[in-house]
Formats: sequence, structure tokens, C-alpha cells
Amino acid sequence: MTNDRRIYLSPPHIGEAEQRYVAEAFATNWIAPLGPNVDEFERELASKVASPGALALSSGTAALHLALRVAGIGKGDTVFVSSLTFVASVNPILYEGAEPVFIDADFETWNMSPKALEQALLTTRKEGRLPKAVIVVSLYGQSADMDPIIELCERFGVLVIEDAAESLGATYKGKASGTLGSYGVYSFNGNKIITTSGGGMLVSNNLEALAKVRYWATQSRDPALHYEHSEIGYNYRMSNLLAGIGRGQLEVLENRVAARRAVYDRYEQAFSHLDGISFMPEADYGTSTRWLTALTINPRMTGITATELVRTLAAENIEARPVWKPMHLQPLLRKYDYFPASSQYSVSDQLFAQGICLPSGSSLSIQDQERVVAIIAHQIESRRKTHESA
Ligand SMILES: *Cc1c(COP(=O)(O)O)cnc(C)c1O
Repeated sequence: MTNDRRIYLSPPHIGEAEQRYVAEAFATNWIAPLGPNVDEFERELASKVASPGALALSSGTAALHLALRVAGIGKGDTVFVSSLTFVASVNPILYEGAEPVFIDADFETWNMSPKALEQALLTTRKEGRLPKAVIVVSLYGQSADMDPIIELCERFGVLVIEDAAESLGATYKGKASGTLGSYGVYSFNGNKIITTSGGGMLVSNNLEALAKVRYWATQSRDPALHYEHSEIGYNYRMSNLLAGIGRGQLEVLENRVAARRAVYDRYEQAFSHLDGISFMPEADYGTSTRWLTALTINPRMTGITATELVRTLAAENIEARPVWKPMHLQPLLRKYDYFPASSQYSVSDQLFAQGICLPSGSSLSIQDQERVVAIIAHQIESRRKTHESA
């Protein structure tokens, strides 16, 4: 068996049009954090997700940061955020001197539990520290259950920001993930479903807010012949070269979603009959992109832990990863409050303890996937034998 070629978790998958858009930028000397590719990329993405406006930025993190600013979040404010996520969902809260409070997931969606959210809203209202905003993360390509979440937030007067960095291309009740809250954030980091090598997009119905963010992201240049500044600014715009990559990638988004779902289907076919293996469920309210195929492994039933399996695959030059370590368990963030889905247990702790993400790239060949499947199947089979004979 050849294992010299590394299999990555989620590598970039470049199509045919990207180089043409980038070449155009060179040919016209638009090598700047603005230009025709940026304008078109914004327009094309807005149209793809049916949002009135979109703003291209240097990263998803930058988009989240300025979404919080334009939502008026500042020192001493509370912001709720999903605990089961990547740290980039939380860091912008800290940039603004606000305080994160972490909300658990549920087993049905692996996303924010509306029950835990309600508990957190009731508790913080009693304590007089209701959040100004909730950052709802849509994990691994699947939208969170937005209707009950938005209903709760409206009831308590709290703004909803969607961190859809991992869910571009997913739907919720026919709408694009990322377009259900007041603000939505996408990422085009190298590992995401489409990439510009690095980049992000902020979408909103609120065009005035987007204009404000555009101003901040360009060092807050006031209209004047000289350089005039009355507000703090940032250098957060997207390069016209990278927007060219984004335009090409956006053309093949549906194709990338289909390919990732096919990768998922093959894993499911290979493993779903095994006791102790459970795939991240796809909720019936929408379509997941299956950005990453994620599953849990019960060590008692399979004889192997998720961590052992990640190590075994690494030894075979295959990149797999544990599920995100919840934010409330991070050394940086342990001092902040956490609302679990139940007083008896924490869903995100359990998903972290048993969860694994398998190589899921849209360019993953069937042969390479078969290599991954064979190694996992062999591990589980041999552990079971040892287990039975013991
Ligand atoms: C990737 C990611 C981000 C950050 O996006 P960048 O473009 O890398 O800054 C934010 N939130 C989640 C959930 C992510 O997966």
C-alpha cells in the first residue's frame, strides 16, 4: 500500500477560472485591496446567497470583528457564542473588551442548543446582564436551527450574528446559511469549502451598516483631499488578486458541495453499520454541505478512541482531526460562564471526547478515500477481535 502521498483533511481545490481572473488583475495592474474583482466578488456572492449586500474582507475573523463593532458591542458587554467552535468565533469578542458566555450544542445538530440558549437568556436577564448579541456558529457545513434561536433572541431583544465560516453553500428552510441573522460571516481560508487562500465576507440586509464597516475596514478615511480621520480604522479589505481567486471558486461552489456530500456518503456506507460509530446527523430543516465528515466513536463499543484513530491515521500520512475542543474548556477562556444543554451533562464535552473529522476534501479521490476507509476498518476490526478474545 502506498502511503507516501499525504492525504489532507480539507485542502484547497482550485478550478479553471481562478487563474484567468487573477491574470486579469495583473494585466490591468489592479494589485490593490480594491478593484473590479473585489466589486464583482461581492456582487456575485451576494447574489449567490440572496443577500442585499456583501463586503469582502481580509478574513472571516475580521468580518466577525467589525460585525461586533457595528452592532455596538464594547467594553463590559456580554456576547453569547457557541462553545463547540473554532477560537476565531470568540477572539473578536475579546478584541472589543466584551465578555463571552458559552452556549452548549445539541446532539441532533451539533450546533447551538435552543434550550441551553433559553436557559442562558433567562439566567442573565435575572442577573441584569443580558447579552447584546449572540454569535451562532454553523458547524462543519450544517446550519444551526435558526428559527427557534432567532425567536428567542427577538423575545429578549438580542441581535443575531451568524458565523457561517464553515457553512457557505448550506441551506436552512430554503435560505442560504449565513443570511438568517442580522449579520452573516463567511470565510475563504485555505481549508474552507471554497478559498481565496485567506479572506472573508460580511453579509447583511443593513446596507448602512455595511457601508460603515467598509469605511472602518479602509482605515476610516473621511471624505477629503488630504488624509482625514475621525474614527479608529482597520486595514481589513480583501486584495483584488485574492478576490479573483474567489470569483473562480464561487463558480464551482455547487460542485464542491456535491463532491463533499459524496465523500460523506462513501464514509457512511463504509461505517454506519458498525456499532459505536455515529455520524453527525443532517437535520431535516436544510442541506448540509458536509464540509467535514464528522463522527463519534464510542471506545467501549469499538475498542478504539477517536484520539487513537487520529494518531493511527497520522502514522499513515493521513490528516484527521478531533472535533473542535469546546471554548469553555480552553485555558484562555475557562473563566467565562458556560450553559450546558442539561444539568446532567454537556453535549459539546461528549462530542469532543468521542468526535473525529475525516479527510473530506472535494478533490479527495476514491482511491485515497478507500485507503482511509481500509485503515479505519482494519483498526476497528482488529480491536474488536482483541476485545472479544480478552
Ligand atoms: C475558519 C473559521 C473562522 C475564521 O475564519 P478566517 O477566515 O480563518 O479568519 C471563524 N469561525 C469558524 C467557525 C471557522 O471555522
